[in-house]
Amino acid sequence: MLLQYAPMADPIVLDGKTLARSTEAGIAERVSALKARNGGCTPILATILVGADPASMTYTKMKGNACRRVGMDSLKTELPEDTTTEELLAAIDELNNNSDVHGILLQHPVPGQINERACFDRIALTKDVDGVTSQGFGQMAMGEPAYGSCTPAGIMRLLDHYDIPIEGRHAVVIGRSPILGKPMAMMLLNHHATVTICHSRTRNLVDVVRMADIVVAAVGKPRFVKGDWIREGAVVVDAGSHPEKCGDVDLQAVIPRCSAYTPYPGGVGPMTINTLIFQTLQAAEKAAG
Ligand code: NAP
Repeated sequence: MLLQYAPMADPIVLDGKTLARSTEAGIAERVSALKARNGGCTPILATILVGADPASMTYTKMKGNACRRVGMDSLKTELPEDTTTEELLAAIDELNNNSDVHGILLQHPVPGQINERACFDRIALTKDVDGVTSQGFGQMAMGEPAYGSCTPAGIMRLLDHYDIPIEGRHAVVIGRSPILGKPMAMMLLNHHATVTICHSRTRNLVDVVRMADIVVAAVGKPRFVKGDWIREGAVVVDAGSHPEKCGDVDLQAVIPRCSAYTPYPGGVGPMTINTLIFQTLQAAEKAAG
């Protein structure tokens, strides 16, 4: 039996921008409480940017700005485009050994000559606030404590805030990347959804998506998910982000059919950054005991 969400005349807007802003106040309070009991010591997120990709530069800047808005600091490491894996591993080791640093963000993607997985996995588990290490993923998947990958963890916080039912629902995740699709699927599974993961070799993708109560689009193709793929009353989460100023979903066509959706902009993106600073705060609190 398909569990139906009630189709709604006016779907719920899963407003990540407002939720992120409103939770920042609480994060800022916890940051100042932590500083007060920790001799004024400020939580620090270290960001590593390799090369000069304009989108990556913007993302790291936005993450640094978010830290400052809540009273935390960011420590920038910028490396040239031709950085080797060994050089990047050495930079990560330095930050792992720096007790002033509570979280480490290696901005994805890194240039092609670098072994990105080896570099992600070098990040100390206690500082893996972006949830990118294999060990962190494994622990999260097993339901053990771990920082979740920030985009899917931000999506889960958004769904939770709006009381979107997950248990027993059929969730279809389009995309299986290590930072988005895969951890998204595991998080939904941990919340008792029945999960289907689709990717570039999936057959009859449209038919699979049409069966979904919850669709998460993490494809990396502008307006890829069309309106008539969406079952009446489904919940649609658009994780995509493109220079064309749209996500992975053809939102205007989807809105009349769904019961809830993430807007673009102002949906998933702000929750990703908010989750990163929240997890950095948690790491700093843990480090302070
Ligand atoms: P990615 O690494 O390129 O992964 C894309 C996934 O989509 C892959 O698993 C790929 O399948 C699948 N795919 C590609 N073409 C497909 C097709 N025709 N049918 C079905 N599946 C297909 O991308 P990503 O890093 O996960 O990012 C996905 C999107 O999220 C991008 O738009 C990115 O900009 C956005 N994003 C947003 C945030 C945020 O904070 N808002 C953060 C990260 C990413 P294969 O595995 O078979 O190749």
